[in-house]
Amino acid sequence: MPKARAKAPSAAPSVPWWLLEGDEECASCGQLYIYELEFRCPECETTTCIHCRRRRADGRLVCVSCAEATARGEAHAG
Ligand SMILES: [Zn+2]
Ligand SMILES: [Zn+2]
Repeated sequence: MPKARAKAPSAAPSVPWWLLEGDEECASCGQLYIYELEFRCPECETTTCIHCRRRRADGRLVCVSCAEATARGEAHAG
């Protein structure tokens, strides 16, 4: 019976590439993020990092403030 080859845990870099600091500043949390990972809210055009987007009940991805406004039941003007 062949020996099971033990998977040696590879020494991964401590910080994944998507968490590396970029040049864009998130309007929501103030963190710097990479431009490629920018999220633009379809409701208010605010650009945030991907960590600050939220999925609403209707499945649409919006920024945190828009998601909270929806959660509070505020009607959208216009
Ligand atoms: Zn953010
Ligand atoms: Zn928004």
